Amino acid sequence: MRRRALYCAFMPAPADSLVGASPPRVAHAALRSDVARIAARVRDGTRLTPEDALLLHEHADILELGLLSDLVRRRKHPEPIVTYIVDRNLNPTNVCITDCGFCAFYRRPKADGAYVLERGEIVRKMQELADLGGRQVLMQGGHHPYLKSDWWCELFADLRVRFPQINLHALSAPELDHLSKLDKRPVEEVLRDLIAAGLGSLPGAGAEILVERVRKIIAPKKTTTERWLDVHRKAHEAGLRSSATMMFGHVESVAECIEHMTRLRDLQDETGGFTAFACWLMQPDGVPEQHLYPARRTPAVYLRMQALSRIYLDNFENIQTSYVTAGLKMAQVTLGYGCNDFGGTMLEENVVSAAGCFHLAPIQKLENVIQRAGYTPVQRNSWYGIVDPRHPRLLRGPSSKDEAESHRAPRAGPPR
Ligand code: SF4
Repeated sequence: MRRRALYCAFMPAPADSLVGASPPRVAHAALRSDVARIAARVRDGTRLTPEDALLLHEHADILELGLLSDLVRRRKHPEPIVTYIVDRNLNPTNVCITDCGFCAFYRRPKADGAYVLERGEIVRKMQELADLGGRQVLMQGGHHPYLKSDWWCELFADLRVRFPQINLHALSAPELDHLSKLDKRPVEEVLRDLIAAGLGSLPGAGAEILVERVRKIIAPKKTTTERWLDVHRKAHEAGLRSSATMMFGHVESVAECIEHMTRLRDLQDETGGFTAFACWLMQPDGVPEQHLYPARRTPAVYLRMQALSRIYLDNFENIQTSYVTAGLKMAQVTLGYGCNDFGGTMLEENVVSAAGCFHLAPIQKLENVIQRAGYTPVQRNSWYGIVDPRHPRLLRGPSSKDEAESHRAPRAGPPR
């Protein structure tokens, strides 16, 4: 076993463990002492450094990571509830010219299977969501070479009139960057027009790993790290909230995952505009450059990072599980590893399922899973306001994009 078990890292070392110990035992004792010191910082609410995070990830026992992340989660969310949102994915087009090697969803222009949905089809999908009481549509698609921002503005304006109760959680940072290039104008102007048309919040997609070495391997044509962060910064400045993500388990190192989270944490200190963080393991089956990727990582790899994200991202209120990639049973486990949110019901999902990974669940099944883990499932909106009429005592804002502006996280992080 590569990692040494440290079930008793909070306990003092046995008296004889440091006396006359062989070199490996001395090294183990020193590591145990380091892990205990960092665990004490977590319990005190002190911000971890990247070095702390790496040591904790590599040397703490997985159960210990779970306990620490659960402590942090309970500090932020003392009520035994788990939130989720009734939403659906809607991908207006799969046409893309960015050719990410990990993506099984997209098609080149004019390739077999390439599509742009007719307006009638989009409206029909929205109506299905409205009929189920949906509150959000997660709308993103490929980087189409001809669909400029006016196409999206016209679509958003139409949907806002038809379905005012459904928030348009749409267009990732790389898509906005692409629209800015197509339009030949700054992304601030693109955002301004899209917001005026009805854009309500941004998904965190397209972050993958925010480290250039990694991006050059897995998505060389995609938006850079700096640009991804700057688009979110501009969106926050324009009054939108957004989520943040990380897709890992491919060519990155653990240190690069921590660098990714550090970039997010820094931006959150600056703007307070992120609502949540979600991470998931890359799904390598059937993607165009499958030969570049290792086999699908084990659930333990996912759990360790999930727990670390809750501990390290101390200025993020909400950490989402990823049942679509990990499955409902593993998602249930992550509720003890820092997660307080189940994400969306995703009544339709096309992107991850294109890579052979498809774990969608009817709403009742999802609620049963949460309840069996000891929590009350509660419906939320896009801004993490609680909107579930079954729980009047828990109802709270923000109830809209504009109200979310006054609920932003504090701009400065806790002591370093
Ligand atoms: S991940 Fe997005 S940008 Fe990359 S190829 Fe797929 S659809 Fe295009």
